[in-house]
Amino acid sequence: MSTKYLIQNATIVSVDPRIGIKNNCDVSIEGEFIAAVGPGIPVSPEQIVIDGTDMIVSPGFVDTHRHAWQTQTRTIAADFVLSDYAKVLRNVFGSCYTAEDAYLGNYCAALECIDSGITSIIDHSHIMNSSQHADEVVRAWRDSNMRAIFCYGAYGNPAWTGSTLDNGRETDNPDWRYEDARRVRQSHFKDNGTNQLVRFGFATSEPEMVPIETIASQIELARDLGAAVITSHIALGKWDIGLRTVRSLESKGLLGSDLLFSHGSTLEDDELKAISQREAGLSCTPDTELQMGMGPPVGFKASDCGCKVGLGVDVCCSAPGDMFHQMRLLLQAHRHLEHEKTPGPPMKIAKKCEDALKLATQGGADAIGLGEIVGSVTPGKRADILLKRCDSPRLVPVHDPVATLVLYANASDIDTVFINGRVVKSAGKLQSVDWPSVRTRLRKSTADIHERARLAPADEIEKAMSRMTEALKVAVEKNKQRL
Ligand SMILES: [Zn+2]
Repeated sequence: MSTKYLIQNATIVSVDPRIGIKNNCDVSIEGEFIAAVGPGIPVSPEQIVIDGTDMIVSPGFVDTHRHAWQTQTRTIAADFVLSDYAKVLRNVFGSCYTAEDAYLGNYCAALECIDSGITSIIDHSHIMNSSQHADEVVRAWRDSNMRAIFCYGAYGNPAWTGSTLDNGRETDNPDWRYEDARRVRQSHFKDNGTNQLVRFGFATSEPEMVPIETIASQIELARDLGAAVITSHIALGKWDIGLRTVRSLESKGLLGSDLLFSHGSTLEDDELKAISQREAGLSCTPDTELQMGMGPPVGFKASDCGCKVGLGVDVCCSAPGDMFHQMRLLLQAHRHLEHEKTPGPPMKIAKKCEDALKLATQGGADAIGLGEIVGSVTPGKRADILLKRCDSPRLVPVHDPVATLVLYANASDIDTVFINGRVVKSAGKLQSVDWPSVRTRLRKSTADIHERARLAPADEIEKAMSRMTEALKVAVEKNKQRL
């Protein structure tokens, strides 16, 4: 028999325009679904009752872009621009992970997500150093109980001597990941429907680094494999070499609702229009975009153009892994840019807290094709919901529950997290997890990765990076002339 819950007397921030915000309201959950939202729902004997007094019930956050394997690199990139990140994370640390490290990185990212109220995630997984890495990352998501779309990464980390990649395999068959993605889809994802908590997706190579034909053929492969989402980094501000990937994909007839583009600060108006018309998704990651020179976060501009837009954490090597941080950065960066446009003092605020909350929940769900399944506190949707306790000195009193969620709350205020009707955090504690022992394993894995990183051929990587930077400069100049 499925478990039934009744949350009583809470403030509901539903993010569903038909329900809105309700005070002194109840929510009932039956099995995997939200059964009812309203005042005075009668209690039945089989229900577990949760007192929601001084709590806010809201939808779980949706993280539409993260490289979840990177947990062991937390804080390393705090002062990096994108080229530093590419050098250290993608050319050194990415090549040092064993399959077990990949498991732990992903599993602990999931714990961080749940602790901070993220209930759905797109994992852009460019840590496919071997077939075992892929198997272990899938296992991590299954063990986590999160709603996740694992996007098999086509990108290969460099296979230097001492790395965890098989140099021979990379040389003999650099496209081995295509065959392996098929194996993973067939062996681990026999059913890839929205009823599944963990699903198969695909992450393309970097569009700025390979010909558009390669990206096009990867999209076709991913569609052949029935990928739930196909994701790709694009239009990276000052790192954008002007290839106009979205325009090219549109001209090839390849844009579709299964595509999810991340970043996109330098998308042209026709590209935003095409994304909107083809119902593709867009993931805005304000922290990395602002820090690493990827341009102003495009979130509100794109949603105003009719695009399906969500927010993403991107990496935890330079930022905390929660959505509060991203909502605040997006909102205040956008407000700043709008204020700068006004000739005198700004007399009207540009966007509101509710606009940021929408992108972090329903907007993200729409962007990843789960808009009918999660993203709001709506009867009939899957029960991915949060209870935030408003007792701390930071959260009393609550005049505006939306502002409380967006600008004041943090992970420690999250009392209870439901994913698919299952309690995964309760009374502020992660459930079914022996965190002290997982933490010990994570520390050991981090130390081992750092030990392996010492073997990275610094000169070779430095040379490859200077070649990349030079090529980037030439391409930017060439495209400036062409545009
Ligand atoms: Zn990324």
